[in-house]
Amino acid sequence: MDADWRSQLQPAARNRIVNKIMETLTKHIPVPPPLPEDLIELRKIAVRFEDKMYAAASSQSDYLRKIALKMLAVETYTKTQHNPGNAQVSPILKPSDPGSSSKGKKGKKLRCHFCKKGGHFKKDCPKKKKWFEEKCI
Ligand SMILES: [Zn+2]
Repeated sequence: MDADWRSQLQPAARNRIVNKIMETLTKHIPVPPPLPEDLIELRKIAVRFEDKMYAAASSQSDYLRKIALKMLAVETYTKTQHNPGNAQVSPILKPSDPGSSSKGKKGKKLRCHFCKKGGHFKKDCPKKKKWFEEKCI
């Protein structure tokens, strides 16, 4: 019916869509702020996702709808991840003791800046990987 919609879609329009996807992903990254390397990764995801939708859609409105749905899913997913009801109301945190424990162990302890857990670096973070994978379905 609308088989020719792809040729009518300007590259600039696709680029705008990619930017919009990117913006949504950036806003909803689990551990802000996104680092430059995260942005590169998000950009790749956005491009790949747009390309997939572009290939799969049967019309321009289908294309836009698919993307809008995905963006909605990203927002909903992030909300439920970050706000699981009212189960946790600021637990009492022990005041950290930065002076005494940080000497002499520099470079030994793996610490992920993404999920704040030890044992791996951010680039190997399974949580981060999972998040990125979910975004590029
Ligand atoms: Zn991690």
